[in-house]
Parts: sequence; C-alpha cells; structure tokens
Amino acid sequence: MRVYISISIILLFSACAQLNISTITEEKKLDGTLVNNIEEYKAAVSNLKPGDKIVLANGTWTDTELKFYGKGTAEQPIILSVQEKGKVFLEGQSNIRIGGEYMHVEGLVFRNGHTPSGSVIAFRKDKEMLCNNCRVTECVIEDYNPSERFDSDYWVEIYGKNNRFDHNYLVGKRNRGVTLAVRLKTEADRENYHQIDHNYFGYRPILGSNGGETLRVGTSHYSLSNSNTIVEYNYFEHCNGELEIISSKSCQNTFRNNTFYESQGTLTMRHGNETLVENNYFFANRKANTGGIRIINESQTVRNNYLQGITGHRFRGTLVVMNGVPNSPLNRYFQVKNSETSNNLIIDCDHIQLCAGSDEERSATPIDTKITSNIFYNTKKDDVFTVYDDISGIEFEENVVSPNIAFPKNKGKELEKGFTAKTIKFIEKDGVKRSKSHPNIGPDQSKPIPGRENTGVSWYPKKDYQIRFGTGKVIEVPHGENAIFNAVKKSKPGDIIRLTESGNYFEGKAITIPHTITIEAAPNLTKRPEITFERTSLFNLENGGSLTLEGINFSGRNCGDYSGNSIVCTSRYSMINNYKLMIRNCDFNDLDVNHSFNVLKVYKNTFADSILVENCRFNNITGHVFNLDKEIDDRGIYNVENMVIRDCTFKDIGGVALSLYRGGRDESTFGPILDLHNTSFDNVGHDKRNKYQATMNLHGVQIADMRKLEFKDSKKINLHLIVGEPIIEFRDVLLKNNEDIVSNDDAFQQINVTRE
Ligand code: CA
Repeated sequence: MRVYISISIILLFSACAQLNISTITEEKKLDGTLVNNIEEYKAAVSNLKPGDKIVLANGTWTDTELKFYGKGTAEQPIILSVQEKGKVFLEGQSNIRIGGEYMHVEGLVFRNGHTPSGSVIAFRKDKEMLCNNCRVTECVIEDYNPSERFDSDYWVEIYGKNNRFDHNYLVGKRNRGVTLAVRLKTEADRENYHQIDHNYFGYRPILGSNGGETLRVGTSHYSLSNSNTIVEYNYFEHCNGELEIISSKSCQNTFRNNTFYESQGTLTMRHGNETLVENNYFFANRKANTGGIRIINESQTVRNNYLQGITGHRFRGTLVVMNGVPNSPLNRYFQVKNSETSNNLIIDCDHIQLCAGSDEERSATPIDTKITSNIFYNTKKDDVFTVYDDISGIEFEENVVSPNIAFPKNKGKELEKGFTAKTIKFIEKDGVKRSKSHPNIGPDQSKPIPGRENTGVSWYPKKDYQIRFGTGKVIEVPHGENAIFNAVKKSKPGDIIRLTESGNYFEGKAITIPHTITIEAAPNLTKRPEITFERTSLFNLENGGSLTLEGINFSGRNCGDYSGNSIVCTSRYSMINNYKLMIRNCDFNDLDVNHSFNVLKVYKNTFADSILVENCRFNNITGHVFNLDKEIDDRGIYNVENMVIRDCTFKDIGGVALSLYRGGRDESTFGPILDLHNTSFDNVGHDKRNKYQATMNLHGVQIADMRKLEFKDSKKINLHLIVGEPIIEFRDVLLKNNEDIVSNDDAFQQINVTRE
C-alpha cells in the first residue's frame, strides 16, 4: 500500500510539473492572433489557413455576433480560442455561427443576455455553409434567455456531418425551445455521425409547455432518415423542462453511458427506428415525476441500463412501451415492432407501462417485441406493471421480479411465463447496485459513470439554481411608515423580514418582490402582526421573485376601491423565472372594499413551480382566492405545477377558492398537480361575477389528491377531465347543503363522499 501511495504522489508531482511547463510555453508563444475587438476579429477571420488560431482577448464582449469559418484539415484545424478560460464572456445579444471544415471552437462563455437570432451556437455559417468535422468544446451557456418565456430559440444547433460537441456546460435554459438540437434539414445533415459527449446539461426548470426538451435529434418530418448521432458520457441534472429530456426523432442513433440525475422526464424514442439505448444510468432518488425510457417505433434496443428510484407514471414511467396509431402519419405514433428490452436493472421504480397511451387513436399494440432478462425489484410496491391493452405481441423471457411484485396481466389474466419471483442479494459499488446471482444484468461498470466532476468544464463555477428561502440574514422590522417596503428594498436574496411587533403595519406603497424573500412574524409575539395597505396590490412578484408569508394577518379594510385588488400579484409581463409562493399560518380578512378583491392574482406567461398554503383562514373575500386560469390558448400550458392547500378554511368567498386551468390535448407536461387536504369551504362561489359559478374549478388537472374536505352552502365543484389519464380522487368528503361535484367525464374516484 505504502509503495502504491508514494508512486501516486510521484506521478502527481510529475503531472503537475508537466502541466506548468506546458502552460508557461503556451503563454510565451501564444501561437495565434490575439484580437481585442470585433474589427480585429473580422480582419483575422477573413483569411484563415489550416493551423491558424484566433484568440479572443480577456474581458466582456458585448453584442458580439461571431462568424467563424474556413477550411482546416484533420492535422491542422483552424482554432478559435480565448486568452484565458473563464475570463472571456460573450454577453448581451451575442452568438456564433461556425462554417466549413475542421473548425475548432473552445472556451466561450455566453451569459447575461440572449441570442438575437435562432440559436446561440450554430454549426453552420449560413444555409450554404454547414460544418463538417468541426468541434465545439469547453464552452458555457448559462441562463442566456430572452425575457419572454414563450419566445423560442435554441442554444445549440448542429448541422452538417461528423461534428463533435463535447465537454460543454449548458445550464438554466428557461424559455421555449430545445437546448441542443441536431438538425436534419438537408441531405448534407443526415447520416451525420455527430458525437455529443461529456457535456454537463444542468438545471432546466419546468417550462409548463411543450418545447422544453434538453436534446432533440431530428424532427418528425425527417424522422425516417438515418442520423447516426452518438450521445455518450453526458450528465443530465434536473433537466425538468418537459416530458422529453431527450427526444430522438430519427434513425440509428445511439444513447449510451449517460447519467440522468433526478430529471423529470424521459429518454424518448419519439420517432425513427433502430435506436440503441445502452448502459445509461437513471438516478432518480424517488423525486416526483422522474421518468426513464419511452419506446415508440421499430427495432429499438434498450439494454443494460440502470434505473433507480423512478416515481413517474404514465408517459414518464420507468419503462414505457407505447401503443401506436395504425398507418400513423409522421408526426403521430408509430407502432412498436421488433424491439428488445433486455438486461436492464430496474430497482425501486414504481411504474412499468405497457401499451401506454392506448386509446381510440392509438390502438396498434406492440408486436414482435421482447422483454428479456431484466430485473424489476421493488419490495415496497406490488403493482409496478400497468397493462393498458393487449400485450400478446410482447414476448417475456427470464425476467426476475422481487417476490411481492405481481406479474403483468394480459386481458385480466396474470402471465404464467417469462417472470420469476425471487429475493436477490445486491452488492453496491459507487452507489450502483448489482445482483450477485445475475452479474450480467445492468450496466458495464468498467466504463466511467458521468457526473458533475467528469463532464462539462472544470474552470467555470456551478451556481445553485434552486429557490431557497431563509438562507440569508434576518432583518428585524418594528412598526413604521412603509416599514416592510423599506426592509424589502434593502434585502438580499434569501433574507428574512421579521415583524417584531403585534398590531398594524400599514403600507402606503406596493412592495415589489425582486428575489427570494420571507416575511414572517417574530416567534415570541402574543398577538399576530397585521398588514393593511392602500395600493392595488400589497406584493408584486417581479421576475425572479419568490415569497414566503408566515404568521401574519392581512386585511383589506384600508384599501382603495380599485377593481381587481390583490394581496399578491405576479408581474403583468412574462416571467422567465418560475416562482414559489408559500403561505403558512396566515389569516386573510375583509378583502371586500370592491367587488373583485383577490388573494392571488396571476398573469399570463407566469408560472409557479409550487404554491403551498398551510393552516390559513380566508374570510369575507369578494373575488377569487387562488385563480390560476390565465393560459387559455389551449396548448397544454398552465400557471402552476404543484398546488398544495392543507388545513385551511374558506368562508364567505364571492369568487372561487381555487381554479386551475390547463387546456388542449398536448401531452408533454405533467401538471397541474393538486394536493388538497383537511380543508373546509363555507358559503363560497355565490358572487354573480364568478364566471365559473363554482367553489373550485379544476380544468385539465393531471393529479388531484383531495381528502378530508367539507363543503357547506357553496357552489359546485367543477371538473373538466381533458387530456391524458388524470388521477382525480375525492376521499372522505362531506357535502352539506352544497352543490355537487360536476364533471364532463366520470373517470374520477369518489371514496366516502357523503351528501347531506
Ligand atoms: Ca416535446
């Protein structure tokens, strides 16, 4: 052992020494043309020969659109680099277009702005000059977004053939449009053998709409062409944009040795055939809405993957084999044929979905398909297999399940062959389990597992992208004129504004929330502080703002008679950042100075990751309490992903207590998701201006878990089941002299619902 250590130390020292020498020589000669501005750059790029190198000087390059083109050779590529990595930034309205042969780009950082045209990095100078044998490596694109969340762009578009995109760090794409797209528009883009490897695909927040894919290869239009793109050794972390983390839409692509970490979505073989999905790792750690692999089309191979802790159901299940459309048009669903899923190790995952999406249109069940030698191990859930249609076209062989798991049923009858129930002993290495008795099932662990450390760039810092409350300092606020306004004004992200006195705080100005703020009562007060105000709304959530309110009473009695007053209001402009709103232990009284006073008022193009309301009382309110119905274009877009209401009372409310709206038939998103527990509604919804004439209006909600509720003297509970297979359940509900639950469809559960 000692010998080994000293040898390693010697190796380490000699490696350092070598590194130093090479850095010094590089600095000395700086073999290339150092350019300090765009004019010098343009002069340098106009006459490039093989082996030439352009070096961007350190500093910030604002509104810089680079065209980098020429004809290098395999031995002597033409290089665009930077003076020092991590010290050259492209900001504002910048981008790069690369064209020609053997062009090599490295070290660029795009941030603080957005691209003025369709993409940030394009592997083509223009329609005529595509890239072939080019490489983009060690580049960063961070939070480079327009202000409108539904303005569409790409971050990277790969055209041409034989290009490589590797060791890049892409994080924080928030608007519509794929992060990285392989384009197959012309013959010159197909059979491309592109290599996409060792990239770090960081946080991509929920878009709440289609168009939030992280990687797409092809489009339905060219999906029967071969792309031959290889995607390997990439790390996908919290890529939550939509249902498809990866959307493969062409033939003969390979996805191997990638890691998907706690990402809400799936690797989807959406269009095209002969895809290989091999040796990938899905570490979902039981996070909500995480998914695995979704199979559509012909001759797909899914083997030796590792899937752990995946909770998503339906299209974002762990393993999803879809039904197809007979004679499907290119943009719908081709039947699954001749596909094989083998040697996958599936541990602690909740949903295997067979014939998923079966409906009148998608009626073609999988045929000539095999599911062989996989381990499905989940000792906590017996019913992991859901069969939506006839699975006799799938041949099952030598699969192993944990003893508790029920075998899949075909036409109601449990399969007799193809599965063995067995207790398995696992050994663990690098956080990955392996079965002692079935060592060939699961990934080949001799290959490196992509993670934060061995992907992306080493020289660029990684920010924490989560919205975190209470991470800053405490600002104590006694009574005073606009005391809270002033405290928020001097606050920093994560700060806590603590109201240290009971009784009334009066705010004469609307309080803008620019970042993550907590406003709470001091813990030792005998009576709660109360806030009154006179502007249209008390709190305006700006883009980037998130708010927690705790232990405070709110009253509308001092407000002016403005139509549409509210306690909390989102920006009336597009919010590119998702927000969070938490309200705990608060009372809202007498919001009644005009006829439509709301608690929360949201605008179109705003999206809440979550709204949590706990232990609150809402009394005497003329308008709506939580009305999230501003996305009415019916394209699967909505205003909130997770809505949680627990231990609350709603009394004498003119509008709705809650309205959630998601319209249209798009299936790329998961929400809204409602958790409504232990809450009562008394005299709600009667105002004639309440267009729903309802206590609650749930339109297109995907999951609603509603328990221990009491409705009294209130208007109806309005359901509209519109897309997917929504899971809507009422349990332990009392309706007392109350209008009933009204729905367009009876596919929802009522357990112990009593009417008096
Ligand atoms: Ca999609």
